[in-house]
Amino acid sequence: MSLFPLVFGEPPTKAESSRVRREARPARMRTIYGIGPEGARCGDCVHLIGRQFAKTYYKCRWFGNTGGPATDWCKSYAACGKFQDANAATPTPETTP
Ligand code: SF4
Repeated sequence: MSLFPLVFGEPPTKAESSRVRREARPARMRTIYGIGPEGARCGDCVHLIGRQFAKTYYKCRWFGNTGGPATDWCKSYAACGKFQDANAATPTPETTP
């Protein structure tokens, strides 16, 4: 019998670990660049790009793209300080990664 559960509690399931890692990405962006406008979501940001394969995978241009799930993004993430409204003015070259 392993002592791990007795000392540290039950280890997280694979789904729980995946969720924690996924939620850490936008939190890291907000830590680095600050919090975006109230109520703004990544889905409305010009820096969110969609890669069309069998399904659409979203990536944040500021966060980067490894070509794998480590950089997958959700439209529902709360925006960071680099947010630029896709429905407003086009981004200036200085603010584009
Ligand atoms: S608000 Fe824009 S720049 Fe910031 S994390 Fe979302 S998609 Fe990326």
